[in-house]
Amino acid sequence: MKKIYNFIHRHRYDITCLLVLILIILFVCIVFPKYETKNIVKIIENKTFDIRQNIIAKDKHVNKDIVIVTVDDPSYEYLIETYGDWPIPRHVYAQLLDYIQAQNPKYVAFDLLFIKSLNRIPQSDQQLVNAFEKYQNTYTAFNFDDYSFDLRQPPELDKKLSSEIKFESNKIYPIKFTNCRMIMNDIIDVTSNIGHINTPKSDDGFIRSIPVIVSYPEYEQESFKILNNNYYLYMTLKMAIDYFNKYENANITDLVVDNNNNLILGDRKIPLTPRGEVILNWYGESGLNNPNTFKYLSFWQVLKSIKAKEEGKKELVPEDYFKDKIVYIGTNVFSLSDIKTVPTGKYFPGVEMHATLFNNILDNNLIHKATLPTNIVISALLSILAIFTVFRFRSVFFSIIVYALIMVLFLYSATFVMTKYNLWIWIAVPVLSSMFTFVCSFIVKYLIKSRDFDYTYKLATTDGLTELYNHRYFQELLSNKIETSRKTGTKFSLIMTDIDFFKKFNDKYGHQAGDAVLKHVARTLKTNVRADDYVCRYGGEEMTIILNADKGNAIKSANKLCKAISSQEFELSPELSVNITISLGVSTFPEDGKTAAELIEYADKCLYKAKETGRNRVGNTDI
Ligand code: GH3
Ligand code: MG
Ligand code: MG
Repeated sequence: MKKIYNFIHRHRYDITCLLVLILIILFVCIVFPKYETKNIVKIIENKTFDIRQNIIAKDKHVNKDIVIVTVDDPSYEYLIETYGDWPIPRHVYAQLLDYIQAQNPKYVAFDLLFIKSLNRIPQSDQQLVNAFEKYQNTYTAFNFDDYSFDLRQPPELDKKLSSEIKFESNKIYPIKFTNCRMIMNDIIDVTSNIGHINTPKSDDGFIRSIPVIVSYPEYEQESFKILNNNYYLYMTLKMAIDYFNKYENANITDLVVDNNNNLILGDRKIPLTPRGEVILNWYGESGLNNPNTFKYLSFWQVLKSIKAKEEGKKELVPEDYFKDKIVYIGTNVFSLSDIKTVPTGKYFPGVEMHATLFNNILDNNLIHKATLPTNIVISALLSILAIFTVFRFRSVFFSIIVYALIMVLFLYSATFVMTKYNLWIWIAVPVLSSMFTFVCSFIVKYLIKSRDFDYTYKLATTDGLTELYNHRYFQELLSNKIETSRKTGTKFSLIMTDIDFFKKFNDKYGHQAGDAVLKHVARTLKTNVRADDYVCRYGGEEMTIILNADKGNAIKSANKLCKAISSQEFELSPELSVNITISLGVSTFPEDGKTAAELIEYADKCLYKAKETGRNRVGNTDI
């Protein structure tokens, strides 16, 4: 038992370090995951992305060739007043197309769904179908979902809507949908410029990326057994591919996703996430507050201009507004629920996401994520720097300042690489792990420091041979004791001991045996006094005890000690045991002395008396 106690006592700092470490590991492995650490870290990381995007958006400018015609609130009111309920008759869009196409835009894309089942007026619909047939630079969309087959049986999609993609990378698993909301067949019959417009939100409700490639099955009729999974492109990606072929002679015929998860479009590489998404590089908030973003034209202004043109009056839309432009048509009315939350704004119209994506593809500035090894190396480096700052500098304040500077520099660099290289390097994991290391390093540093301190303290206050308090510390203890006793009016006593005939013993058995006796006497004294009494080595073979006792009790204790030493034989070697005796003197504060010197002198006198009267006893001046 004693051995175990000694072991624990000797290694108490290492054990504390180990326990702290075990606690941290337990916390990280057991408690943290309970609170979905991974998700928390992901949410924080996404927020750091949003902040970086907002910072760098200020210096970004959109391509002025991309314009948006939008059904805003006044337009919505105007349309409802003119045509009754939403959706409006489709010939209105045909008229709109005729008007815009008359100015020779590069593309017109509808971020609107001409749903098969909604509000069909055959003549009106036919006008729109005719317009799609006439203008082959016009795009429209359908969208997937995962609705129950009991509600709606998944439609079979025309082969021409899907795309062949060659995956050289085996790390891409595009999002799979099981059902689809189909648009008018007549439109599909006359054009292939149709893509999907699904934009799922991330866990926190934000949209940061767009699934440009998704998959949807080819079902066996009636049984709905999946025969094959086909890939479908996002409407804007389809349009961008056509743009490169038409305006940049890119000659893209086959779609290839290379080993590094890049979709190759001529000399452009579109970085994909493992889910077949692209991460958008945003241009700031939507609307008039941001002069750098896309220009909006109200739907009602175009409709009024169509009327004005027919009547030969002045049009509201500026002359050649759509010439050579990429025109998106969509809504930003709350009630039509096409308002999204994105990193740079809470109210962001879905149609502007298309514009952003097209602009990103055109400028080749889609965001790509740094690889896992890169992020791990950055995290490790920051952790090493954290350890360095803790151990390199003496002052805590200085360590914190240097560490904070390193963090600021890192955050600045992470923002800089996003601006310059469109690269998303992790911030949450490197910062959190290095902060964790920083705190742990401080704990370790202070454990080491306190161990050093304890060791030096022990060296300064104890005697090496007997491990009792040394003479200097005894004097300090005695003065302190006198002071406190004076204040509290309590008594205490001092016992002085001296080994009898020690000189002779040394002469007879040698100094090493003498040392062993000193240790033995010290140990015996220590084990026979109370825990709050102090046993000190006064010098040579003289020892002192400061004890909380009045004279009577101190003399009792002294007698007990005298007996404890004399009653046991001390084994010098297996063959030789010797009897050791000590003489003792007692003085008590305040009656025998009011200062340290007086108390020592009185106890010494008593000790002398003990020697005089035969040794192995407690001396008394009265005798
Ligand atoms: P008395 O009974 O009168 O006290 O006789 P004594 O021989 O003990 O006399 P004294 O106190 O004068 O002797 C002290 C001796 O203690 C002298 C020295 O040899 C011995 N001594 C002092 N310090 C040490 C030490 O650290 N180790 C050893 N082995 N002996 C020591
Ligand atoms: Mg002596
Ligand atoms: Mg002696």
